[in-house]
Amino acid sequence: MSDAHSDLVSDLVIVGAGIVGLAHAAEAVSRGLSVQIVERDAAAVGASVRNFGHACVTAQVGELRDLAESSREGWLAAASRAGFWAAEAGAVVVARASDEMGVLEEFAAAEGDAVELLSAEETARRLGRGAHEGDPIRGGALLTRDLRVDPRTVVAELAAHLESVGVRIHWRHCVTGIEPGVVRTNRGDVRGERIVVAVGHDLDHLFPGVADAHELRRCRLSMALVDAPSLSTDAAVLTATSMLRYDGMAQTSAAGEVRARLERERPELLDVGANVMFTRRPDGTVLVGDSHHYDLATPPFLDEDVADALLAEVARVVGGSLRVRQRWQGVYASSPSTPLVRETPMSGVDVVTVSTGVGMTLAFGLARATLARM
Ligand SMILES: Cc1cc2nc3c(=O)[nH]c(=O)nc-3n(C[C@H](O)[C@H](O)[C@H](O)COP(=O)(O)OP(=O)(O)OC[C@H]3O[C@@H](n4cnc5c(N)ncnc54)[C@H](O)[C@@H]3O)c2cc1C
Repeated sequence: MSDAHSDLVSDLVIVGAGIVGLAHAAEAVSRGLSVQIVERDAAAVGASVRNFGHACVTAQVGELRDLAESSREGWLAAASRAGFWAAEAGAVVVARASDEMGVLEEFAAAEGDAVELLSAEETARRLGRGAHEGDPIRGGALLTRDLRVDPRTVVAELAAHLESVGVRIHWRHCVTGIEPGVVRTNRGDVRGERIVVAVGHDLDHLFPGVADAHELRRCRLSMALVDAPSLSTDAAVLTATSMLRYDGMAQTSAAGEVRARLERERPELLDVGANVMFTRRPDGTVLVGDSHHYDLATPPFLDEDVADALLAEVARVVGGSLRVRQRWQGVYASSPSTPLVRETPMSGVDVVTVSTGVGMTLAFGLARATLARM
């Protein structure tokens, strides 16, 4: 095997050029460290380009909220340095039943200024909907701390910016093993004083013991890109099933009523683990999802019934027809016991995997925390 890169010893080598790896690189560069990144593909094509581009800050709780707020600062600082689109647009949660409004009222009471209750008219206006289109709206809430980025472009833009400020990214280098100070790849070794492993759901390929200790699985999600001409907001749009997934809302007492009603009225959504939400990209197309299925492997087959259930629900909220332009499957790491896997399996090597679906939200906060520990 050639040892093409081993003459250079950086302060930090990062494995993985998804958002978690790139955020670590951006934060390291801002602290004056020299950085190399090793990525197996010719461009990032993992979870970080397949998601909604929604930094869901407001509805996190506890440590994740602190990390999300720190990440929010990191996203905005990186956007201003790298010049990518990041909108302080918040998220609109749409309530179509009184129990859903109950969740939002409890959440707003607990969160103060971070959550603004919206009238039915204001919620419909933000969606660009006429009053009589789609399901009747009871009201809504604006989660003011949330951010939006465009997942299709932001990862490549951040990578290009990092390269322009001296970060060497070794594309098409598949990491086959890691030792203290050395990353072994199929195209030679890459060396650094410290190593951060940010390979998302493929952690079991490099550190199976760490992955197994946290019972890491792959969560696969059904997604679509649609035209929805009436939608004009940059805010992420969340619905009832989202209230059951994000802790800030899921921990309210009214969330139990929402779940019980959806079990009766909309079992097809709960059966596929739906979090029905959507985000508009700067070009006007809309990212729509999602469902959740958990396994060790990821069968590639997309179930049309799942897609139909999600698209029908979005159409009821948007109040217009949707034309599907693309479909894909997203995959992220999931653990039943922890939302974050942060381990030091050997001296000078930190593993950072987000093991629930909030890696876009937390990436920069996690990077700051990792670098503060070094
Ligand atoms: C459909 C979907 C919707 C989501 N929506 C949101 C959302 O709105 N908000 C939010 O906060 N989060 C969301 N998430 C979660 C979020 O996308 C992930 O948590 C996050 O992108 C994980 O980033 P990552 O860098 O760890 O992983 P990835 O983006 O998967 O990057 C890991 C990188 O490591 C590389 N790699 C792996 N193994 C090796 C190896 N051996 N050698 C070299 N390189 C390797 C891969 O090629 C890949 O580029 C969503 C996820 C999905 C799938």
